[in-house]
Amino acid sequence: MIHTVLAYLTCPMCGQALATDAGQIRCPDGHAYDLARGGHLTLTTGRATGIPGDSADMVRSREAFFAGGHYSALADQLSSVIQGTTMETGRIGAEPVVVDIGAGPGYYLAHLLNLCPDAVGLAMDVSTYALRRAARAHPRIGAVGVDVRGPLPVRTGTASVILDVFAPRNATEMHRILRPDGYLVIVTPTARHLAGLVGPLGLITVDERKPERLRAKLGESFVRRERLTLDLDMSLTTYDLLHLVMMGPTAHHRRAADIQAIIEERWPNGATPTASFAIEVYEPRPA
Ligand SMILES: [Zn+2]
Repeated sequence: MIHTVLAYLTCPMCGQALATDAGQIRCPDGHAYDLARGGHLTLTTGRATGIPGDSADMVRSREAFFAGGHYSALADQLSSVIQGTTMETGRIGAEPVVVDIGAGPGYYLAHLLNLCPDAVGLAMDVSTYALRRAARAHPRIGAVGVDVRGPLPVRTGTASVILDVFAPRNATEMHRILRPDGYLVIVTPTARHLAGLVGPLGLITVDERKPERLRAKLGESFVRRERLTLDLDMSLTTYDLLHLVMMGPTAHHRRAADIQAIIEERWPNGATPTASFAIEVYEPRPA
């Protein structure tokens, strides 16, 4: 429900608060935004971003893959890291706000909210198809359409936790919307991620220098307090393999039929690839 998070959102045109007015969402200056029938709210200035958000097929693949439970251990680990950090620091007060940057269909956020009955979730993504799913993923999720690489239509100092799983990062904006006592959790693939599939399927891989670049950019605004890795040995059918490839960035460049042909030729009985993630927890530097 968008109304669970409306108080935390701002007008992307002028930065003022938003409120419901005659079925529309408006700021005091009259900038108005329509609530989509699917329940999400798009908060952009109307300029085309040119970003290839996840297509309907990609979102379907993602949901099918998640439904198989192959990444459920990552969802568990993320929730446990967030709850552990929260308990250890005792920082998060009443109604914590969890902001998921590039939330996709809201899988990880919904998992976390199920374990945190006081928290509300703000799912941000550029894909309309992903937002429709995220808006329905949990009653305490509000789904907002925005290019997460640019300004975020969120009040300064709102987020108790920011979650970023395989998504773009705007360190300055993430620092601005995070509470001074909040923290940022980032999940990135390690160099081992899906190693046996990358070559044969021509998957888009992790840029080797990316972890360094990520740390340098984030280091200006955040201090890392924890890093752990999680390797998942998966047992995947040919369908699982197809969904896994077609839910990711490779889907922007390759046809499903071509990927399927390679899979059936090379792994007719399925495969056992390893998914490998780095989970990092960051604290904001004082402003
Ligand atoms: Zn406005």
